[in-house]
Amino acid sequence: MEIGYCKKCNIPVLGERCSLCGLPVQKIRFHDLGDIRPASKFELEKLRFLIPFRDVKNYLSRRVVLLSRQPGLDYRKDVFIDGFKFGTLEYVKDREWRWRFIPTGRGAMLIHILTGHEDFSLKSGGHWKGKKIDRHITGDWAIARIGKCIALAVNTGENVRIKDVYCRPVQTARRSSIKDMIEGNLTMIHKKERKGVEIIQKTGADYAAFSGGKDSEVSLYLAHLAGVKKAVFLNTGLEFPETERFVYNFADFLGVELIELRPKKDFWSLVNEKGIPTKENRWCTAYLKLNLLKNLRGVIVDGMRKYESLRRMHAPTTRRIGNLRTVYPIYNYLSLEVWLYIYYRQLPYNPLYDMGYERLGCYMCPSMLNAEFHNLKRTHPQLFQRWYRYLRKSGYSHEEIMDGKWRWNTLPPKLRKI
Ligand SMILES: [Zn+2]
Repeated sequence: MEIGYCKKCNIPVLGERCSLCGLPVQKIRFHDLGDIRPASKFELEKLRFLIPFRDVKNYLSRRVVLLSRQPGLDYRKDVFIDGFKFGTLEYVKDREWRWRFIPTGRGAMLIHILTGHEDFSLKSGGHWKGKKIDRHITGDWAIARIGKCIALAVNTGENVRIKDVYCRPVQTARRSSIKDMIEGNLTMIHKKERKGVEIIQKTGADYAAFSGGKDSEVSLYLAHLAGVKKAVFLNTGLEFPETERFVYNFADFLGVELIELRPKKDFWSLVNEKGIPTKENRWCTAYLKLNLLKNLRGVIVDGMRKYESLRRMHAPTTRRIGNLRTVYPIYNYLSLEVWLYIYYRQLPYNPLYDMGYERLGCYMCPSMLNAEFHNLKRTHPQLFQRWYRYLRKSGYSHEEIMDGKWRWNTLPPKLRKI
């Protein structure tokens, strides 16, 4: 899948022409278009921590860094800078769970150009890509020179291998910021905003659903522009405290009435009869969320996006929940567009996004990544402990819990091995 990129301004552009310089855009390929977005503060910090060169850290902090999801066992993202794939950031388990960054060959070339760094050199002329080499490297990767080419050597744990060889010169690109990205996409942002407001006004919506996440924030904001006066917050009782506070504050910020609904029977009394929710059996969505909407009638604005719902296991396929009809004004938005809109309107957003969370539902949702579940132990130790103790009481070992195995009824093959 592809999106536009303005090489001159060094920003992604979601139209034919860059609104900042007026030039037509080039296309770059991403693995997962719907998920592409700017790196969060948390992710930028991880990258700066994992890349051991000051000049590279400085370079990254002055450019738009984009991330795009890769299939994998847990958190795994392609890191894009200057419109090319710079490397992969992932959460992996070898001896223990940890963060790892590995550059691409081209990324290694950029690092070499910025720093002059090379760890060793290899005889030129040979076909090195994919070969095992007789070298010891201490970290996950090293940069090798082969004539005028730069090779990336990776430590697989068992041996050292040449993963990629890059031979073309790489030029450094212009500095770019979030502000440039907003200006470069201004035509598209205005068009989409008008369209969103129009869609909502046509339906005469009464409510806007608001979970405290970025998608429902944007759809609520559009609903607010369209004249909708009521936001509906389904509080499962398993919300992060940051989410509750953000929901209250943002509704107040907009001056809309907040209707907060809670399940009659809470999760902790339901879990004993229904069992631990898993990816295959997420009974909690219906019990803690959808059932609460039964008493509302009319039209509700919802922040569902098609790129997100492809992965959602219980995505509503109908546009009706009880007596409610739903309208999806940001259905075609990419994650990048949601963020662009938040930045463009300078809206506050849920602080959890900068704390290492991407999915802001319940704090122990089985859809969470293990990277997020481990993060919970650090950011919210009491919430973590409550769920940890419940899982231990239910018979899971410490290792099974920390490997996130409780999230499945039937483990995927790759996870069975760890
Ligand atoms: Zn431009």
